[in-house]
Amino acid sequence: MSLTRYKAKRNFSSTPEPEGKIASKKAKLSFVVQRHKASHLHYDFRLEMEGVLKSWAVPKGPSLNPKDKRLAMMVEDHPYDYKDFKGVIPEGYGAGIVEIWDKGYYTDIENSDAATAAKNLKAGLRSGNLKFTLHGKKLKGEFALVKLKPRDGEKDNSWLLIKHNDEFAVSKNYDSEKETPATSPINKWLAQNKTPQKKNSTKQPGQRATK
Ligand code: MN
Repeated sequence: MSLTRYKAKRNFSSTPEPEGKIASKKAKLSFVVQRHKASHLHYDFRLEMEGVLKSWAVPKGPSLNPKDKRLAMMVEDHPYDYKDFKGVIPEGYGAGIVEIWDKGYYTDIENSDAATAAKNLKAGLRSGNLKFTLHGKKLKGEFALVKLKPRDGEKDNSWLLIKHNDEFAVSKNYDSEKETPATSPINKWLAQNKTPQKKNSTKQPGQRATK
């Protein structure tokens, strides 16, 4: 696992994002879901693996309803320290606001010890079928990330994030936006910037934003 792509995209003299190093082994594996207002509002789903955060951009956010198959575009590995990052990313790559939507630890679905889980999760990632159990505040229970076969000309980075049917699954509509407090930094920013629709009145928090 490497942070080369992560580092190549960023200028660390102008962004507050962590420059990052590979983390050492710990007893529990971390996960985080960050809500990110860039050019588009999206969620970034990250799982610690081998000292970095494997990362997927999830446009609609995660769901606790097993009927939902949420598109998750795999992006570059992020440094382990990124799990605690929130704040404003200035002009440049990913410019905008990041807030932490959920975080906690995760295991493989057999709830193995960390070393065995690491092996199982890595194998799942390789095979394009990654099953895991989240222990967050909002997200709990078993999930899967399933890789889609790319069609001609498509990028080979599309996965689906799916909740397994367990005691934490819900059958009602699940909207991650509705699970976000109105007072979150991004929602405050959106409330301040939604009106009026005059020229130059809608100031973006950044520009040239992508993931
Ligand atoms: Mn993002």
